[in-house]
Amino acid sequence: MIKLSGRLNGLEESVTLAITAKARSLKAEGKDIIGFGAGEPDFDTPSNIKEAAIKAINTGQTKYTPVGGINELKDAIINKFKKDNNLAYSRDEIIVSCGGKHSIFNLFQAILNPGDEVIIPAPYWVSYPVIVALGGGTPKIVRTSESEGFKMSVEAFKAGISPEAKAVVINSPSNPTGAAYTTDELRAIAEAALKNDLLIVSDEIYEKLAYDGFKTASIASISDEVKRSTVVLNGVSKAYSMTGWRIGYAAGPKEIIKAMTNIQSQSTSNPTSISQWAAVEALNGSQESISKMLKEFEKRRNAIVEGLNAIKNVSCIRPQGAFYVFANVSKSYGKKFKDRVIKGSVDMANYLLDEAGVAVVPGAPFGDDSFVRLSYAISMENIIEGVRRIGKAIGELK
Ligand SMILES: *Cc1c(COP(=O)(O)O)cnc(C)c1O
Repeated sequence: MIKLSGRLNGLEESVTLAITAKARSLKAEGKDIIGFGAGEPDFDTPSNIKEAAIKAINTGQTKYTPVGGINELKDAIINKFKKDNNLAYSRDEIIVSCGGKHSIFNLFQAILNPGDEVIIPAPYWVSYPVIVALGGGTPKIVRTSESEGFKMSVEAFKAGISPEAKAVVINSPSNPTGAAYTTDELRAIAEAALKNDLLIVSDEIYEKLAYDGFKTASIASISDEVKRSTVVLNGVSKAYSMTGWRIGYAAGPKEIIKAMTNIQSQSTSNPTSISQWAAVEALNGSQESISKMLKEFEKRRNAIVEGLNAIKNVSCIRPQGAFYVFANVSKSYGKKFKDRVIKGSVDMANYLLDEAGVAVVPGAPFGDDSFVRLSYAISMENIIEGVRRIGKAIGELK
């Protein structure tokens, strides 16, 4: 047997993927499963974007490109930052990677040394702590509560800053909670970060998906000083239903971007040439598909929040953005169905899958076991039927 790398210590199979796999095999057996597990929009990639990719193929854009992305895409990203966030970047402050996740991976590879801590508010996207650990750093989890809207207070943030702290991750709107920070809240966090010499890592992948007219802001736009200490992460996956195309990007200080580009040059090289041209069209072309998607998501969010809150022993706050609700199911912990005791979110997810034919994602891997995550990137019809089934199954727990 080959002895595996020590880097893999603590890197377990994702519980999320294990439950998704179980749901998939039940479905394949012909079981009627409603899946609230999706981590991607259920809309098709807009046709103008697909056409741009086809054109790229037919015009020979099928070779290596510069490692950090073609200038046309960098310029489209620069325009996007100018237009949406009032931020001015130059080409050497931008890197295009193979998905937003890849930019985050490159970033933590580029900035971390052993012992460095990265502050991550919980509930968090499952990948942050693992990517930090793979970069040799230590995730420092700061808990937030449902009652504070799952947002990290400045007090909690400051209390989490040790002498080893190097960076803080802000993900607004958030996966898994949908929480979004106001500009004032971002300003307070930015001030504390600057005072403590922390790099702000701002994951803005759900920027375009905010409801009730909520206006998301980039933390980097607060001041030039904040911008100099921030790396903004974004991509086309969520806003343009392009998860499979694998295009994400980062903007920040050029020394950091250069280091990230060097790492990318020795690992994946450039992101797919064809996808880059598709992303140029996504950013420069009509933005109409976003408003259509947003309208539909908002309707579904309203339905799912209302439906879940009508279930006894289930509650969820009204998320401001993204396409997830984080529902508190902990009132049923300790209860039983037949001989089965529900001890936590993983038990709950398995119970709902087995007894109700509903797939949800346990909150434990997101850093809070009291919750389960439901995605509303599924049809209204399935939301209504799924919520009905959840209500029935929770009602049967004694
Ligand atoms: C989906 C997602 C990303 C990026 O996804 P890619 O498909 O790699 O572009 C980044 N951060 C969060 C929080 C996400 O949910």
